[in-house]
Amino acid sequence: RSGKQEIEVVESPHFGRMLLLDGVVQVTERDEFFYHEMLVHVPMHAHGRAKRVLIIGGGDGGSLREVLRYPNVEHVALVEYDERVVEASRAFLPNLSVGFQDPRTQIFYEDGNEFLKSAGEPLDVVIVDSTDPVGPAEGLYSSSFFQRASEALAHDGILVVQTESLHFHREFVIEIQRRLREFFPIVDLYTQALATYAGNWWTFSIGSKLHDPRIVRQQTSVVTRYYSPEVHPWAFLPRSLYDKLM
Ligand code: SAM
Repeated sequence: RSGKQEIEVVESPHFGRMLLLDGVVQVTERDEFFYHEMLVHVPMHAHGRAKRVLIIGGGDGGSLREVLRYPNVEHVALVEYDERVVEASRAFLPNLSVGFQDPRTQIFYEDGNEFLKSAGEPLDVVIVDSTDPVGPAEGLYSSSFFQRASEALAHDGILVVQTESLHFHREFVIEIQRRLREFFPIVDLYTQALATYAGNWWTFSIGSKLHDPRIVRQQTSVVTRYYSPEVHPWAFLPRSLYDKLM
């Protein structure tokens, strides 16, 4: 118990090591790459030349590992409000915590919502890899946060937020799409089957200030196990289905 949440790391014969926070599965060694690759490589490949990246949440290190694969990335700020999660990942999840020592990484142990209130250099990509949108993570899904994120991003910046399941949380997804439209000229949704997250049909909501997120711009390729420029467009909902669902 970190005083903020209950942190568990368990061994599963099928899933390998699993991280749970307050009893909710965050990552399993068996399938975490589907989530981390799709959360990171779609916005990074849509942007094409990201140098400054912000990850909010992500204390297990999986998203950071994926961002650091890009040779064009010069600086990654990881803003995780519970230091004990990073400690647990360092101690028990070596496949995920590989990026904490990278010279390009800067870790801040604070609330991501507060962090964005102090303007820094313009960001190219902002990634919200938080727990479910309740409690400390709730503020990361507010209109005021999206406004701050849009203001913190450069003219061609992209924001991506994990936004729960289309099966179980469709009304929430629709509301987040609506909020994002207040601050981004291009708003879209892509999905990925994630068996270890309750609801499975997982969504990623994306706000873009200039580029169409469905188009791959990244020239240099990065090593992945699942994501590819071919997978990229197919992750997005067909527009007719998007219009029907949203
Ligand atoms: N991949 C997981 C998922 O999709 O559910 C989330 C991974 S990571 C473990 C989520 C992290 O978000 C947790 O470590 C939690 O401490 C952190 N977090 C929650 N609210 C936050 C906030 N407002 N600012 C920064 N980090 C936050």
